[in-house]
Amino acid sequence: MILTQCPVCAAQLPDLTAKQCSRCKTRYCGPACQKKHWEEGGHANLCKKIKKGGGAEQYHADKKYVEAVGVAMMAYAEDARGQTCYICTEAVHRHTGEGLVRGCACHTTEGFVHISCLVEQAKILWEEAMENNLGEPVRRERWDRWHTCSLCEQRHHGIVACALGWACWKTYVGRPEAHFARINAINLLGNGLSSASHHEDALSVGEAQLSMMRRLGNAEGILIAQTNLSNTYAKIGKSEQAVEMDRDIYCGRVKLNGEEDETTLRAANNYAWGLCKVRHCEEAKALMRKVIPVARCILGADNHLTLTMRWVYAKALCDDTGATLDDLREAVTTLEDTVRVARRVFGGAHPLTTGIERDLRHSRDALAARG
Ligand SMILES: [Zn+2]
Ligand SMILES: [Zn+2]
Ligand SMILES: [Zn+2]
Ligand SMILES: [Zn+2]
Repeated sequence: MILTQCPVCAAQLPDLTAKQCSRCKTRYCGPACQKKHWEEGGHANLCKKIKKGGGAEQYHADKKYVEAVGVAMMAYAEDARGQTCYICTEAVHRHTGEGLVRGCACHTTEGFVHISCLVEQAKILWEEAMENNLGEPVRRERWDRWHTCSLCEQRHHGIVACALGWACWKTYVGRPEAHFARINAINLLGNGLSSASHHEDALSVGEAQLSMMRRLGNAEGILIAQTNLSNTYAKIGKSEQAVEMDRDIYCGRVKLNGEEDETTLRAANNYAWGLCKVRHCEEAKALMRKVIPVARCILGADNHLTLTMRWVYAKALCDDTGATLDDLREAVTTLEDTVRVARRVFGGAHPLTTGIERDLRHSRDALAARG
């Protein structure tokens, strides 16, 4: 369920026990709001329509999908002039009347497509894999068609990703809660909303996803939902909440994957960046001292993540308000060493290299100012 607020008073609703309209399953905080919605909120007129549309969640998803397609179509109308869909080869969709969109890495005249065609393709490919019991790798690959362009192999982004998120959710919302497709669909919806900068919606979907995963006892799913929430918190400037979430994710990864797993190390790295951002440099340093040796051992000294961890460690040294001269010296030598490796492994133009170089300049300046 993603309709987690009372439509009348916006109170947060419990997952399973909320009062609901017996006909259309619209959920309320209590009988008073339900009555009010019926008498003054127009529910008397809508109830039958919602019921016919498959109930409150389905009706909502279908409506949001149509809105999202409309937004995407409008935005791409100019770019798409004179182009045709690479799936159905028409300019205007034969049944839906839709125009073309493009939200991947395709360029020049490639990659224009109808959202309906993408949705149809994803649906058919995935259902075929399920029906024929094709193995897990094939199923995953087919599922990718919900979020990744088959021409350029890059993920759809922005308003196209948002429309695909609603499409996927509306397709699988009616499945049992523990169904693979439904679990992945809510994740895709959250990511799509976030990609289109609908952060408030992404937040409520992320929260619904988290409570769903908790209910299902799905440890991996809980961590994925928490990661989405942390990203959204960071995007809306709630850094403290993001960091709290990052701590939970890191602890969760240690428990689920162990200390020596790459996903755990990645979670530690994210947590440390967050700590630096809110100026909890001591904690960031302590964490990095613990995990960098593990990363060197498991991933190697030349690895992107290992280098990133050393970079954040130097940042924590440098940004600490109580940094000593020795701390600043250690930050400079750490960055000098990591930038040398980054340049050799990834080249001088790589964002990792240029990012470290920038902080190396800062830390040299800070050291010079103190000396
Ligand atoms: Zn209410
Ligand atoms: Zn109703
Ligand atoms: Zn088409
Ligand atoms: Zn593409």
